[in-house]
Formats: sequence, C-alpha cells, structure tokens
Amino acid sequence: MTQTIEKLSSADLAELNSRFESAPPEDVLKWVDETFGSSAVQVSSFGLEDVALYDMYWRVNESARIMTLDTLRLPTETYTLFDQFQLRYKVEIETHHPDLEAVRAMIKEKGFNLFYKGVANRKFCCNVRKVEPLKKALAGVDAWVTGLRRDQGMDRGSIDIVEWDDAHENYKVNPLANWTFEQVQHYVKANSVPYNELHDRGYPSIGCAPCTRAIEPGEDLRAGRWWWEGDPDAKECGLHIVEAAAR
Ligand code: SF4
Repeated sequence: MTQTIEKLSSADLAELNSRFESAPPEDVLKWVDETFGSSAVQVSSFGLEDVALYDMYWRVNESARIMTLDTLRLPTETYTLFDQFQLRYKVEIETHHPDLEAVRAMIKEKGFNLFYKGVANRKFCCNVRKVEPLKKALAGVDAWVTGLRRDQGMDRGSIDIVEWDDAHENYKVNPLANWTFEQVQHYVKANSVPYNELHDRGYPSIGCAPCTRAIEPGEDLRAGRWWWEGDPDAKECGLHIVEAAAR
C-alpha cells in the first residue's frame, strides 16, 4: 500500500458499502478512479463478469488499468480474447506469469498434470501459478477491482462491495457484488463487449484449459471448474479466499 491512502474506519467502510448497495457499478468505479487513480487496477481472468466490468471502468477512465495472471495453461480462446481486448480498448493488459523456476520444480516433482492427482496437488499448482504471482502483482497497488458476484456462492456469498484486504494490505472492490449472471449477460450483449467464445460453447466459468469443462443444462455455473473434485464448496483457486481466511 502506498503512503497516500488512509485506511478507512469500520464505520466509514460500512457507510460507503451501504451507499453503494443501491448504486450502479459505474458509481463504484468512479469512486475507485477518484480515490485511487492509477494505483487501482482491475484484476481480470476475462470471464464474462470481468469483461463487462472493464467496459464500465474504461468508460469512466480510458486509461483504467487491467491486469491478468497468465498461468501458462490458459485456453487458446482466452489468449485470442486478450488480443481482441487490446485492440478494442487500446489498453495494454498487464500480464503476470508464475515464477518459472517454481513451475519447473513443481513439474519435476509432481508431473505436468499434477492437479488430477488430489486436491492438495491442485491447490499447490494454483498457488504456484496464481496465488504467488498475484501477491507480487499487487505490491504497490492500493485497490484491486474484481468481477466477483455474491450469487456465485462459496465464500463469495458474503462479500462487500468495498473491503479491506488483509492479505494484500489494500482495498478489494467488487462493483458487481449484487449483480446476477443475467444482468452481466445483458450488459455484455447491449454494449457489444468482446467475450470469450467458450461461453457460447457451454463454459459459463473459464479458467485454465485442463481444469475447465463445459457444463450441462441445470448444472451449477461453476460445476465445470475442477469437476473431478466434486465438492461445490471447494471450487476456489485461493485467489479470493486468502483474505477470507484471515477475516
Ligand atoms: S486451474 Fe489448474 S492448471 Fe490452473 S493453476 Fe489451478 S490447478 Fe493449475
């Protein structure tokens, strides 16, 4: 965290969240832009929520920053979307990669597809390819903006729109916290926002290629993530539960 941003009191944070609950996401993004400027960044995995959110953020500030974690195992369609996004918004996506030595050591010890051999291995891979790179990427960032929604379930059910993130010592802002998936779909369509073509092939939630499959009608929206594990409450990679555990 930079020295210029003061930590809000619990009362101020509660008042802010109360105000934002009935405000459109654009108002939240204007507050982010006015309060944090270029020390705020959207952290995006380029899911449907993320692309809608960046379109809103870009309309507030055409220089709004966006970063992503390239785990080196993403689907080709996601890389295609990165290219489309850079052309559409004339923005440089700040791309962060895992430490290659850590990846090599992990593969040497556990194999390329270690994630299929138990939850501990999967979490280890997510830690090397996502959690650790995110920690480095957020150094010096005062506020990170995410596309999390409460009705995605798991720990996301209780998120606030503006939260203090103990793990990264900055603010975490979730402007779409009270949106539904249908609202996101409508926004993307109404504003011709570029999106991952895998969404049209039954993938509502997209992560790394080997860990994501299409879902069947009626399945939970995140059922295609780490589907072999079965437990719907465990479908997080650790990016958004580090701070939950600290709360
Ligand atoms: S989603 Fe799969 S490939 Fe990607 S970091 Fe996690 S375990 Fe590794």
